[in-house]
Amino acid sequence: MAEDVGRIFDIQKFSLHDGPGIRTVVFLKGCPMSCAWCSNPGSRKLQVLEVADGVHGGVYVADSRDYPIDEVVRVCLQDLPFYEESGGGVTLSGGEAMVQHRFTSRLLGELREHGVHTAIETTGYAAPAIFERILGEVRPDDHRREALGPVAARALDRCEERSAVAEPGDGGQGRRAHGRTDPGDSGGECVSG
Ligand code: SF4
Repeated sequence: MAEDVGRIFDIQKFSLHDGPGIRTVVFLKGCPMSCAWCSNPGSRKLQVLEVADGVHGGVYVADSRDYPIDEVVRVCLQDLPFYEESGGGVTLSGGEAMVQHRFTSRLLGELREHGVHTAIETTGYAAPAIFERILGEVRPDDHRREALGPVAARALDRCEERSAVAEPGDGGQGRRAHGRTDPGDSGGECVSG
């Protein structure tokens, strides 16, 4: 997908459990994992799916749509006073936000240009170069690893280990710990749900 369009299945405001303060959470479609405990199984497919409308019986609606980046930024900035008052910001989640890494990277950068604190919920299942680039957008300082916390730091370590054992000619992607990736985009591992 283009870097200025993201496939999103929800934008949730006033979230209190996805980072510090009051946050807006942007849920991106697509995830290469198949966790048995997944709370958003419909988010795994990158494709837009038709799902039953729980309110209007027999009616099917799209589970997601493509958002221009300007629209996402505008929606996120609507709550800027809440971020400033509470020390909050915007969290990207999914699905696995690194599957749409071009959009994710661009969105994080634009939000930071507006002074918005950003975070990403990810398992870190992505090529090391992608992981590093997105990490730089989330926390572009010299203490990124310390800022990650122990779980995400280990995920980064595993990315680097996979890169070290990558077969020649695999494009530097490294061996993937898990199966499928959606065609046409990154192939990242994951985060959250
Ligand atoms: S990584 Fe998250 S979104 Fe992906 S399958 Fe697991 S719980 Fe679900």
